Amino acid sequence: MIKWTLGEVVELVQETPRVASLYLNVADWPGHLAGQHVDVRLTAEDGYVAERSYSIASAPEDRRLALTVERLDDGEVSPYLVGELKVGDRLELRGPIGGYFVWRADEDTPLLLVGGGSGVVPLMAMLRHRAKATHKAPARLLYSSRTLADVIYRDELDRLGSAGDSLAVVHTLTREKPVGWNGYTRRLDESMMKEVAWPKEQMPAVFICGPTSFVEAAATLLVAMGYAPQSIKTERFGATGG
Ligand SMILES: Cc1cc2nc3c(=O)[nH]c(=O)nc-3n(C[C@H](O)[C@H](O)[C@H](O)COP(=O)(O)OP(=O)(O)OC[C@H]3O[C@@H](n4cnc5c(N)ncnc54)[C@H](O)[C@@H]3O)c2cc1C
Repeated sequence: MIKWTLGEVVELVQETPRVASLYLNVADWPGHLAGQHVDVRLTAEDGYVAERSYSIASAPEDRRLALTVERLDDGEVSPYLVGELKVGDRLELRGPIGGYFVWRADEDTPLLLVGGGSGVVPLMAMLRHRAKATHKAPARLLYSSRTLADVIYRDELDRLGSAGDSLAVVHTLTREKPVGWNGYTRRLDESMMKEVAWPKEQMPAVFICGPTSFVEAAATLLVAMGYAPQSIKTERFGATGG
């Protein structure tokens, strides 16, 4: 059983109107792999306890642990993490957790990442990990957001995608068509997936993360393209998102 520990909040970064990154110093952090998550535990004054999982956004190489949380206004935990938590506060967490949805930069196969909304978080840990590696497997990220303002890590993704090191970042927006936008403006579909994903013969490692319905739609499209189901790793954040 992984024990609970405390992380001190050392920086808060507002990524979008509803999403913030929390940077934590965790004294006895054992290290993690890109794609793993932590459990966060909040205890109210009356002793009521709420526990939720949050993906690790930082690369294994980073000194500080980063979590990126979307605020759900009717949620129990996320409105505290995005809105009330302050620099200097301490947060109870345990981890790293998960050995399946993980990627190591020394893997040679092409890397296909498909993220919906805050589902981009563990995929960002993989891209940050890849950015620090000397050997870089070809990678593609297909990232679905509602509007341009909802795109998490937008500037950093622009930088990573234009570094000329065989990473392509492709966006789709499901609820907005901004003037001058040259990404997609619809939900994932067959023609989009065929344009973005490698042919199955190249046998990419696939990681899909987001709301349950998004993950299922993306995996179904790839299986229809002939991808072996066992090559597709998925992480469901729950609920419908939309
Ligand atoms: C392995 C794992 C990793 C995760 N990583 C992240 C992460 O990196 N960042 C992040 O923001 N969240 C992440 N989540 C989701 C997170 O654990 C919580 O479910 C989320 O923050 C909502 O918690 P809450 O207490 O605020 O809302 P709750 O009180 O649990 O729910 C409030 C309302 O929101 C709905 N709801 C619950 N979860 C979601 C959701 N994910 N999307 C849309 N509606 C929802 C519920 O049906 C309910 O109506 C992850 C989940 C898992 C399982």
